[in-house]
Amino acid sequence: MDKFAKGAAVEDGPVVYDKIPKEVIVTTEKDHGLQMWEQQWMDTRKGTVTKAFFLSVKKRLTEKIPIFPELTSLLSGYGNIKSYLYRLGVTDNRMCPCEEEEHTVDHLIFKCKKLPNQRNEMIRQTKNTGGNWPAKSETLINNYKNYFVKFVKSLELSDLKCLSIKT
Ligand SMILES: [Zn+2]
Repeated sequence: MDKFAKGAAVEDGPVVYDKIPKEVIVTTEKDHGLQMWEQQWMDTRKGTVTKAFFLSVKKRLTEKIPIFPELTSLLSGYGNIKSYLYRLGVTDNRMCPCEEEEHTVDHLIFKCKKLPNQRNEMIRQTKNTGGNWPAKSETLINNYKNYFVKFVKSLELSDLKCLSIKT
């Protein structure tokens, strides 16, 4: 897509449409929409956890990710994450059941001492394939998605108390 065609399509409107092949216009509009969405993604202060995993909307759209509640919680920072529920006023306790730190996504992935075996397995597999630890959240999804998803899936019921509201 060259810049001139793009500029012409956007600035001059329908007048130039007959000079540009239809596919080009469709592509331009699609790119334009994606850029606007991308801008909103950058501007919004919401979804900071998700942004750590997916640096751009384009990236998010091209990633195939299994959907299950624990993974959704970890990728979004919403759901049964106590620091989030605390901000909402749903719980008055934002600490992880390990009682060492606030219950956040980063804490669960990188630090929580209640999840050493699952984490060690993820670290081992990541390092075996040439990765470093700790890995950035975006790197986990980009390069080690399968290990990361396995980590989240391997959380057993007792560990999942980590993800639920203390009553
Ligand atoms: Zn913990």
